Amino acid sequence: MTMLRLAIVGLGKIARDQHLPAVAGLRDIAIAAVVSRNATLDGVPCFETLEELFASNIAVDAVALCTPPQVRRAQAALALAAGKHVMLEKPPGATVSELAPLIATARGRGLTLFATWHSRHAPAVEPARALLAANRPLSVKIDWREDVRVWHPGQDWIFEAGGLGVFDPGINALSILTRILPRPVFLRAAGLAFPANREAPIAAELDLADETGLPIRAEFDFLQSGPQSWDMRIETEGGTLMLSAGGAKLDHDGRALVDEPEAEYPALYRRFVHLVSQRESDVDLAPLQLVADAFLLGKRRGVEAFTW
Ligand code: NAP
Repeated sequence: MTMLRLAIVGLGKIARDQHLPAVAGLRDIAIAAVVSRNATLDGVPCFETLEELFASNIAVDAVALCTPPQVRRAQAALALAAGKHVMLEKPPGATVSELAPLIATARGRGLTLFATWHSRHAPAVEPARALLAANRPLSVKIDWREDVRVWHPGQDWIFEAGGLGVFDPGINALSILTRILPRPVFLRAAGLAFPANREAPIAAELDLADETGLPIRAEFDFLQSGPQSWDMRIETEGGTLMLSAGGAKLDHDGRALVDEPEAEYPALYRRFVHLVSQRESDVDLAPLQLVADAFLLGKRRGVEAFTW
């Protein structure tokens, strides 16, 4: 396959922490340009806007949108209109409905649209899925608790409308849940805690189920000090599964089955390169739909104002 020439859009935390090193480690894809309002990357052509990139003589085949969700739809529409394949960071958008026109455009033009869910590529996720196919789940408890000041310092967009608040990490848990369970899940009830000065929740509790009545409880907290937790405990007919460290570790009745360093972004890029080679898209909206449903159904409570 020929080399896929990629433009990284939004040179922020995730682009620098994960996208640049992941692409650097792969053979079939290379960074051909950067689009950033503020930053540049040595040795790479840089543009302030996508319009400037597409008007230039720099050839790119694809863009990776590493910007906050509120601005992603317009950027994706522009890139697809310019004939580029598009990789979307998670969550794929600020609303569920904005994805349908993008999916249709990609299909109509024979382009790839890839809505990434990086946590699904954590090493213990597929082993957990296989175990749950063989052992009926009886209950699920999710604890996703982290300190927003440590992991997202100064990222005001996260608490603006469309930024998802605590669902920014919480949706990672939902992306794993919707991958590993044998049946689709739906929301039954939710509670959302909104700081007095912010537009998105800082904590949330969700009760979900599947059609068999499987009880699923998820608790998300953005003010966790001390040990952080990205854990899922699943009681099954065949024992207790503990999926922890964001999907990097799996225990079955206390016996370690998986404990590996994560390599989520190289896996995402290998998948993107494959999708492009097949001219296929991969857009699973189930995790975003659950978050949207929590905003629809959730009981809201006001909590103390949040400052960095
Ligand atoms: P970030 O560093 O705050 O923002 C990323 C970049 O987006 C910024 O550096 C900026 O790039 C651009 N940007 C910000 N606001 C913008 C606006 N209003 N209009 C246009 N561009 C804007 O955020 P991040 O942590 O990288 O997260 C970006 C996305 O990746 C989010 O959806 C997040 O959920 C996802 N993600 C983050 C992590 C993580 O650990 N942080 C992990 C996985 C996924 P320029 O200044 O270069 O224009």
